[in-house]
Amino acid sequence: MTGNKEIEDLVKIIAKLPALGPKSARRIVLKLINNKEELIRPLSNTLAQVYKNLRRCQICGDYFNINSKCVCSSNNYDQICVVQHIEDKWTIEESGIYKSGFHILGGTLPTLESKKKDGLLISSLINRVKNNSKIKEVILACGSTIEGQVTSHYIQDSLKDMKVKITKLAQGISVGMEVSFADDGSLIAAFKNRSPVVND
Ligand SMILES: [Zn+2]
Repeated sequence: MTGNKEIEDLVKIIAKLPALGPKSARRIVLKLINNKEELIRPLSNTLAQVYKNLRRCQICGDYFNINSKCVCSSNNYDQICVVQHIEDKWTIEESGIYKSGFHILGGTLPTLESKKKDGLLISSLINRVKNNSKIKEVILACGSTIEGQVTSHYIQDSLKDMKVKITKLAQGISVGMEVSFADDGSLIAAFKNRSPVVND
């Protein structure tokens, strides 16, 4: 305990971040308060901007600045790569293998019941494909966990009557793996060898 409320409050907030416990939170807070001008000032400005301007798009699931349009409203993509989480999109972008559109579901369907989860953008994906005749291919990159597979199946089924090619990432993403944990080599192989989905 530091005996200082401001510091304690800050430690409590920082300790809520992923992969940080109270000890590392305290180290971060010390670094911050020892560098008020270099760290705290720009950090608080940036956080205020993010709080004010950043929203999750209810169409594609990506984050966008409310002062401009979301990337999904542009017309310069003819493929949509469907991922569970924003980190998956970042991983795929960083690998450089794919440069077209994305759809971030925000999770997966529950495995036991087929009820839709709140915030899960599946119907908006169906609408995107329905309303945009430029879309030629939907690439399912939901990961190979059971939940990911169930979700892929559901999407595949919902899109089966539409004139769009549906493909799935190939081997390389091993069973049970989330896309954002794949290394670049596996990811590139999985994209290159993606296969058309067959409805059973
Ligand atoms: Zn969007």
